[in-house]
Amino acid sequence: HAKQLGRNRIEFFTRQLQEDLRSKRRLVEELKLGLERGEIIPYYQVQLSARTRQVIGFEALARWKHPDKGVLAPGVFLKIADEHGLAAEIDAAILKRVLEDRQFWQLRGLAVPRIAVNISASRLADPALLRKLKTLDIPPGAIVFELVETIFLDDSEETLLDHVDDIKRLGIDIEIDDFGSGHASLIGLVKLRPKRLKIDRQLVAEVVSSQEQRRVIGSIVEIAKALDVEVIAEGIETESHATVLAQLGCDGLQGYAFGYPAPAAETERLFSPLTSGAEKQKAAIGG
Ligand code: C2E
Ligand code: MG
Ligand code: MG
Ligand code: MG
Repeated sequence: HAKQLGRNRIEFFTRQLQEDLRSKRRLVEELKLGLERGEIIPYYQVQLSARTRQVIGFEALARWKHPDKGVLAPGVFLKIADEHGLAAEIDAAILKRVLEDRQFWQLRGLAVPRIAVNISASRLADPALLRKLKTLDIPPGAIVFELVETIFLDDSEETLLDHVDDIKRLGIDIEIDDFGSGHASLIGLVKLRPKRLKIDRQLVAEVVSSQEQRRVIGSIVEIAKALDVEVIAEGIETESHATVLAQLGCDGLQGYAFGYPAPAAETERLFSPLTSGAEKQKAAIGG
């Protein structure tokens, strides 16, 4: 009897495994199609100056506008994309769309601040990236690349650092994303010489309740300032987060407290017209 049960269980797990594999494979095929059909699009989340609460930039975050599953966040597809060599394609699709959105907004007379785009390790490693970027003719300062610090932990480090230098020369600033979440923070900071770092949301989360956490962030800001690196705090969910992080010396703030990532059409209300002052922009974000 026990043997029979064991066999049933093995059959069950085998079937489960096969189903998982099948649904994974289906997802990959769907994702390839989705990329071809332009279903991978950027949502935009606003970044504010900690001092003035004016808009200083946006982060573009990938969404999959799936034909029948609705709008999917990267958590659903990014890992599997990476496992199947599609991460770089996603990054490329997002950058292309961001540049199109930007041009559209500018043609309509809107002043578009810098837009940060997330770059995966595989895209940064691609020798064709620089050539591609040159053909895109990106105005200096328009686009920023966000890299997670862990990118720089493997053997290809030297090549990656070369690529980073080339990218900087094209007028694209580098930011370290999720700073403090990995184990390479300081090495990354010194080697990469980024324009900015983004303090990880997990560090930000406890900042109001914990004196210790506040000291940690205070020290990060101090180190950053010493290296002439700006600091953005991500994952700001409440006004008290915002107040404390501004007091700790952060330059920029980003999080649900100021806006959820939103599609392009809902984002343009946050831009000011090229001609008039900042008052409208302030009114638009309720500041
Ligand atoms: P990230 O680059 O650190 O982006 C911030 C994430 O935190 C986003 O999740 C954003 O929606 C979320 N977030 C923003 N404010 C808050 C807040 O106040 N509270 C909380 N709890 N979360 C907040 P999202 O959009 O699901 O993206 C997850 C991650 O996927 C990103 O983390 C980034 O690492 C990656 N990703 C997104 N788009 C791309 C892309 O185009 N290319 C690549 N390679 N990675 C991307
Ligand atoms: Mg990011
Ligand atoms: Mg981040
Ligand atoms: Mg993050």
